[in-house]
Amino acid sequence: MKKPDWLKVRVSSEELEKMQVFLSNMSLNTVCQSADCPNIGECFAKRTATFMIMGNICTRGCRFCAVDKGHPLPLDEDEPRRVAEAARKLGLRHAVVTCVTRDDIPDGGAQHFAKTINELRKIPSLTVEVLVSDFMGNEESIKTVVMARPDVINHNIETVPRLYSMVRPRADYQRSLNLLKRVKELDDNILTKSGIMVGLGELEDEVIEVMQDLRDIDCDMMTIGQYLRPSGKHIEVAEYITPEQFKRYREIGYQMGFKYIASGPLVRSSYHAGEGIEKIRAV
Ligand code: SF4
Ligand code: SF4
Repeated sequence: MKKPDWLKVRVSSEELEKMQVFLSNMSLNTVCQSADCPNIGECFAKRTATFMIMGNICTRGCRFCAVDKGHPLPLDEDEPRRVAEAARKLGLRHAVVTCVTRDDIPDGGAQHFAKTINELRKIPSLTVEVLVSDFMGNEESIKTVVMARPDVINHNIETVPRLYSMVRPRADYQRSLNLLKRVKELDDNILTKSGIMVGLGELEDEVIEVMQDLRDIDCDMMTIGQYLRPSGKHIEVAEYITPEQFKRYREIGYQMGFKYIASGPLVRSSYHAGEGIEKIRAV
């Protein structure tokens, strides 16, 4: 299927290379690079990135995701400190940290996340957003991350429940919803956020049901973006959703009571992530 014009992006190779060298010198991974994000040119030119901790090999095999799958390496104990050093050097005001899913570690890497949040917390006025895995529903892991008190805990629902077996065969819709619900129950000062990809064959009514499920558990922010196929081995795009339809989802989301909605063809969970929290805090 031919990509529509609204998905074509220009990448400045000079800025991209500078950031790649910087990140490589710091021995840090980003989801921007590992997941072939289409916004990498724009974000790297602004010297923003989403750090991906705990390595670049994931123990799950979601069929939409470009991150390598296999047996990950042991955790790098110095990584939390380096993430904070990179955030400082880049002059970030809002840091976003995600991870590969580490089903091989008993706590799913929750302590490593907490250490990273604690290191980032040493930077004055920096806001911290973490995009976590589902920790297999492990209550202690969820508590560990909540107790480190990031400003935002994001966990992506990714798609509508009907498509889970095709798109996220090793995930569970209710488990993901429950994680976001538990965050609010444990500390309602933390903003919760979730996101889905569209263009996988979902119907509008199904998207609206997911949005309502998220509102029912008091989720504050949501992102909706177009699924793009990373390679011929990944699930095919079923449809390119029009910018008008994205606008419609945004309007529906605000009517439902979300505090912030980013909905557009190139929106990703961490796209302009600082904007959401700035808008909410300005109210
Ligand atoms: Fe990285 Fe997020 Fe920007 Fe994509 S949208 S390049 S993942 S910061
Ligand atoms: Fe990609 Fe996350 Fe799925 Fe791993 S769990 S394959 S990083 S989407």
